Amino acid sequence: MKVAVIVAHPDDETLWAGGTLLSHPQWQVFVASVCRGDDADRAPKFTNALQVFHAQGAMATLDDGVEQTPLNEEALKQTILRLLPPIKYDLVITHDPSGEYTYHLRHIEVSKAVINLWNDQQITSKELWTFAYHDGNKKFYPRAIHDASIKSPLSLDIYAIKHQIMHEVYGYPLDGWEVKTTPMTEAFWSFTDTNMAKKWLESGRVLS
Ligand SMILES: [Zn+2]
Repeated sequence: MKVAVIVAHPDDETLWAGGTLLSHPQWQVFVASVCRGDDADRAPKFTNALQVFHAQGAMATLDDGVEQTPLNEEALKQTILRLLPPIKYDLVITHDPSGEYTYHLRHIEVSKAVINLWNDQQITSKELWTFAYHDGNKKFYPRAIHDASIKSPLSLDIYAIKHQIMHEVYGYPLDGWEVKTTPMTEAFWSFTDTNMAKKWLESGRVLS
C-alpha cells in the first residue's frame, strides 16, 4: 500500500494521522510538508518524526509568516508535485477544506490544492482521505467529527507513541496547545471518486 500524506506543516502528519500511520506499519508512507523546510528548529524534528513512522518525506519552504498571506494556488500545486514522488498511490491523505480548527489558512489551501490535483489526475491515487476534525468554532480542542467516514479510536499503546512524538520529538510542552490538542480518535472523510471530492469541496463539504 503506497500512501502519500500531504500537509502544511511538520507536525500535522502526527497530530491528525499519526496514530493511523503507526497502526499500519506495512504502509509505505511518504510525507510532504509544504512549509517550514527552512525552519532550523522544526525541519530536523520532522526528519526524526518520520523515522518513528518509518516514512520517507520532503519539505518545501512556502511562506508561513504570521500574516498568513494567501499562497498562489498554482505555485502551491507545483510545490506539492515537486515534493511528491510521481508514482501511483493507493491512498493520499491531506487536510480537511475546513482546516481542522478555527482558523488556519495554510491547512485550507493545501486541502483545496490536493483535491484539485487529484481531480485533475496530476496526483494519481485510488483513494483520498481528508482529516475530519472540528473545534466547535474555537470552543474546544479539535476533535474527531462524529459522522466522519472513518473514525479510529487509538489504542493506548498507539496513542502513547503519538503523544511521545509530539512531546519528545517535536518538543512541545505538555501544557501547550499542540500536545493538549493531540486527538485520541482520528477521523477522515474518504473518497474513491475524484468528482465526488471536488463537488464536496465546492459545495462547502456537504456530502449528499
Ligand atoms: Zn499545521
